[in-house]
Amino acid sequence: MGEYLTSCPACGREFEADEEMRVATLEYGCPICAATLTPAAFTPH
Ligand SMILES: [Zn+2]
Repeated sequence: MGEYLTSCPACGREFEADEEMRVATLEYGCPICAATLTPAAFTPH
């Protein structure tokens, strides 16, 4: 389902994100630890 595999450099958690979640995560940060993520943290798959 996820369009991107996201790896958070702060907490090390990996999760899948679709486009909507990717935008929200870039705006609000990691859903686990709230660290700021850059577009580079998202790998399309
Ligand atoms: Zn995190």
